[in-house]
Amino acid sequence: MSYQAPVRDILFTLEHICQIQTLAATKQYADLSPDLTQAIMGEAAKFTTQELASINRAGDQAGSTLADGVVTTAPGFKQAYAQFVEGGWQGLSFPEPDGGMGLPNALGVAFMDMLQAANMAFGLGPMLTMGAIEVLIQAGTPEQKQTWLPKLITGEWSASMNLTEPQAGSDVGALRTSAKARADGSFVLKGQKIFITWGEHDCAQNIVHLVLARTENSPAGTKGLSLFLVPKYLDDGAGNFTVRNDVFAIGLEHKLGIHGSPTCTMEYGGSTGAVGWLIGEEMRGMAMMFIMMNSARLNVGAQGVGIAERAWQQAYFYATERKQGKAADVDEIPAAIIHHPDVRRMLLDGKAKIAAARAIIYACGMAADLAEASGDAKIRARAKRREDLLTPLAKSFGTDIGVEVASMNVQVHGGMGFIEETGAAQHYRDARITPIYEGTNGIQAIDLAGRKLSMQGGLLFSEMIAEMRETVIACNEQKSPVFARIANQLERAVTTLQTTATWMADPARDRKDALSGATAFQTLCAHSIGGHYLAIGALAAAKLIRAKTGDGAYYQSRIELADYFASTYLAAVPALAEQVQVGADVIFAISIEGLI
Ligand SMILES: Cc1cc2nc3c(=O)[nH]c(=O)nc-3n(C[C@H](O)[C@H](O)[C@H](O)COP(=O)(O)OP(=O)(O)OC[C@H]3O[C@@H](n4cnc5c(N)ncnc54)[C@H](O)[C@@H]3O)c2cc1C
Repeated sequence: MSYQAPVRDILFTLEHICQIQTLAATKQYADLSPDLTQAIMGEAAKFTTQELASINRAGDQAGSTLADGVVTTAPGFKQAYAQFVEGGWQGLSFPEPDGGMGLPNALGVAFMDMLQAANMAFGLGPMLTMGAIEVLIQAGTPEQKQTWLPKLITGEWSASMNLTEPQAGSDVGALRTSAKARADGSFVLKGQKIFITWGEHDCAQNIVHLVLARTENSPAGTKGLSLFLVPKYLDDGAGNFTVRNDVFAIGLEHKLGIHGSPTCTMEYGGSTGAVGWLIGEEMRGMAMMFIMMNSARLNVGAQGVGIAERAWQQAYFYATERKQGKAADVDEIPAAIIHHPDVRRMLLDGKAKIAAARAIIYACGMAADLAEASGDAKIRARAKRREDLLTPLAKSFGTDIGVEVASMNVQVHGGMGFIEETGAAQHYRDARITPIYEGTNGIQAIDLAGRKLSMQGGLLFSEMIAEMRETVIACNEQKSPVFARIANQLERAVTTLQTTATWMADPARDRKDALSGATAFQTLCAHSIGGHYLAIGALAAAKLIRAKTGDGAYYQSRIELADYFASTYLAAVPALAEQVQVGADVIFAISIEGLI
């Protein structure tokens, strides 16, 4: 059983949890209608399942290869990329005047969910191009926009993101690639970047590399970094991009997973010097790169959810077919393993986590849309705060559950999960990179607890907490046992979130104590907010059931999913709060020598 895009779950999340239709009140998205949303998601489902899911396995087995500086992608990738370009998918959420479809980011994220599920190694290329387009739209000069945007938006050209160097990973400020100004306003870059995703390949005619480098006499650390656009092919002066720039792939990584994605060591300026142009102001490179990274962080969250969905579906179908032993509620011996309570628990648990993470990432996309498109400055500012709060959660929670659900799939398959031929192992191997790149989840936790928590006097959190309390009231108003349970758990979780956030944000708090609890705090936030969004979905489902509209059994399952998440993950939030506050004394109690 290959991947089937979960269009019903995706539409439910967009329509009933994120209320995507409210965007139609903005000038930018005035044409958005439920029919349009459904049609786009339907087409996206067709494209991703038919063209991409089928070459996922071949991509894993054959991988990409490098010879003489040329990377050849896995069988089928080049043809699928041509289909991707023909469908206009790269431009889905970019403005129409720039050549895009002009649809909201929320739909872009939903498309990513399907794209990454169908073929994560393939999906990485378009994902990085999206980030580069975003940077050029927000910070490019009119000339840069005119030169680079049209073909990036069609997908005829792709892009890469170049931060990492051997000595500079999480610590980006340690990078050494240099950029020397030339009299004509361009720069010459020299240096080596490692782990560059889709840094070289045979699918697009040109590759636009966005490269962080250091100009002469710039200060040490991140303050001295600038962002450059360095194309693979330069203009020959007559508008033909045929002149080879001095940037080459000199190595290809052999990885645990995503074998179809070419992860390159890139050499800039190995002989004559790589020609590039500054994007934005000099020494504002990190701010520029953050535009790209915020887009990529959200989309990596979507990768986590996508891979979780694909693995979950595989687990579900295997569990209905594999027969073992006797189960209490069925006569058939041997019974399909889905009847065993522990297998059933694993499947429900995965389903609930995917639903919660999907809600968080789509809500983040929706916040980005409102932050840009609302006609009301107050709504824009509030939406920006929501986007800022949700971005690290989207990245970390989406990818954490990606690994967890892919692991669950292996477990449901038993020994066959560990054998490559079932394909369960590939999803697990592929998923494992997601909590690492785009800022490790540990770095996301520092961003959340160290930066986002104190931004604008804690407003990002207090607004969220106030909304969560409204959801508690709405659940209590349902006057049903299941909603009373959800309300009770959500109430405890939100109260715990508030007290833990206060503990974390206390200016007198020792930084080492706070950092020791940052990852647990991030999980606590994701579970509380994920439970809140599932409760909103359950409330909408109850309303639809009362109105006797649509698929009542499906809506009932949305209530049950929220109930399960509340009874397990929200219920465990107070214990997470204990972990947050454990303190550095405990974490550092055993010495480094004592640890071994
Ligand atoms: C397949 C793949 C694709 C990639 N694609 C790209 C790409 O396209 N472009 C690009 O520029 N890079 C890319 N990367 C690089 C990736 O972003 C880095 O690997 C990642 O940022 C982590 O850096 P590092 O590997 O040096 O790990 P390190 O920074 O050495 O981190 C090791 C561990 O220490 C922790 N750690 C480090 N510093 C701190 C701190 N201050 N506080 C707490 N914990 C800390 C980390 O969380 C991690 O657990 C890719 C990597 C891979 C493997």
